[in-house]
Amino acid sequence: MAKRIKDNDWKLVPAPESKDHVRIDAEYKLFIGGKWVAPKSGKYLDTINPSSEQRLARVAEADAADVDAAVKAARKAYDTVWSKMPAPERGKYIYRIARLLQEKAREFAVVESMDGGKPIRESRDFDIPVAAAHFFYYAGWADKLQYAFPARNVSPLGVAGQIIPWNFPLLMAAWKIAPALACGNTVVLKPAETTPLTALLLAELIQEAELPDGVVNIVTGAGATGAALVNHPDINKIAFTGSTAVGKLIQRSVAGTGKKLTLELGGKAPNIIFADATIDQAVEGIINGIYFNQGHVCCAGSRLYVEESVHDEVVRKLKHRMKSLVVGDPLDKNTDIGAINSREQLGTINKYIKLGQQEGADMYQSSCDLPGKGFWCRPTLFTNVAQSARITQEEIFGPVLAIQTFRTVDEVIQKANNTPYGLSAGVWTDKGSKIFNLTSKLRAGVIWANTFNKFDPTSPFGGYKESGYGREGGVHGLGAYLNLS
Ligand code: NAP
Ligand code: MG
Repeated sequence: MAKRIKDNDWKLVPAPESKDHVRIDAEYKLFIGGKWVAPKSGKYLDTINPSSEQRLARVAEADAADVDAAVKAARKAYDTVWSKMPAPERGKYIYRIARLLQEKAREFAVVESMDGGKPIRESRDFDIPVAAAHFFYYAGWADKLQYAFPARNVSPLGVAGQIIPWNFPLLMAAWKIAPALACGNTVVLKPAETTPLTALLLAELIQEAELPDGVVNIVTGAGATGAALVNHPDINKIAFTGSTAVGKLIQRSVAGTGKKLTLELGGKAPNIIFADATIDQAVEGIINGIYFNQGHVCCAGSRLYVEESVHDEVVRKLKHRMKSLVVGDPLDKNTDIGAINSREQLGTINKYIKLGQQEGADMYQSSCDLPGKGFWCRPTLFTNVAQSARITQEEIFGPVLAIQTFRTVDEVIQKANNTPYGLSAGVWTDKGSKIFNLTSKLRAGVIWANTFNKFDPTSPFGGYKESGYGREGGVHGLGAYLNLS
């Protein structure tokens, strides 16, 4: 007979994904001109598994001389092969990358979860399939660019330098590489220091796809490697995804150089719940919006605005749902919240959790067990938060939700727009008219209605204000890699 289950007095049987099919080398060099090349300085960095704190591999640290070699390889490939190749042929290579990625999806998913800490359910069901979808989507555009921009002349930019963060390592690489190649550019990509492995596996896959040497180059390293790429004189375009602070530095460096620039930066998304919303569905959306990927999401719904009359119900249901979230081994298929990406990031999140309490807000955290080793954070929410509080205004980039109430539509629009960011927003209501009203007034690049954190290669993504400028995805994403006249 089934026993009546009280809150959280049950345990799921562990269901770990196998690592047997995965090969991680002890050491990775730089992928330049189609070959694996040792860094000129001889320096390497460790990449660790944030759930065990164990080293996974040593990864080359590229300096300015290595970046120069990569840019030269990309330039040569651009001049001699890629810009001359008929567009349908270019498309075939990109399709090949997409198909190989699908074939190796399990391996990529496991490595992504080991290197970055995200739950296997997400890397398996979201990161890797959506990355493959981006290659498929942009492969289809390669020979149709003229149709995307009728009555205009289209031509590639040349060599693109691309710098990505650690929260969606392979997916960000796909967002950057796929449109660049489809438009006829060659690429030098720098992954984040803590999550280089799936970009290196992608380099192996690109070799297997027999892309001409130098069309894609992957240079691993830290911030200085990224800066060397930004400052290289023979780069035509910089595409950066990361923090607003580094984005501003990059903007200053490229000013006056003629390099094209797109910036995808931070966010502090409002998620707005009206009393007429389907509350249970909204609660799931809130949970997905902020606790998905440990809150390491630029467009996370980190500010919740609840219409006053349903505040108590929403908070009660949220707390109840939080109790059942499983925090732990990223490779376990039951895990909802994996490891925080690094010790530094955990320190930042904990600093904000303390700050929220000092600012006078009321904190609630679930009481789930946490593993001994590794970097972990319980799902956290704050109520009684002020609009001016730092936990309302600043990006935390962790599983921390700040909740406020509102009474009128005008009030919530004003509050929602009142941060330096403008990347995304969510609206939950039964009324289509309210959705249309808010989507025209919220200053955000993406607005989800009665859902959250949904992505599709055909849909443009990007921010307002300090969330950056330029769009990735969809036809807009092509424009960022073309000269249009
Ligand atoms: P970050 O510190 O800005 O790093 C992003 C990338 O830039 C990393 O590869 C980093 O290398 C590199 N970098 C660091 N300093 C640099 C410099 N001076 N010049 C050139 N490159 C440099 O950001 P993060 O902490 O890794 O990522 C989290 C941030 O990214 C959050 O603010 C989040 O909102 C934002 N993000 C935005 C989007 C979007 O689409 N809008 C998507 C995802 C993330 P190292 O890893 O070696 O430091
Ligand atoms: Mg790592």
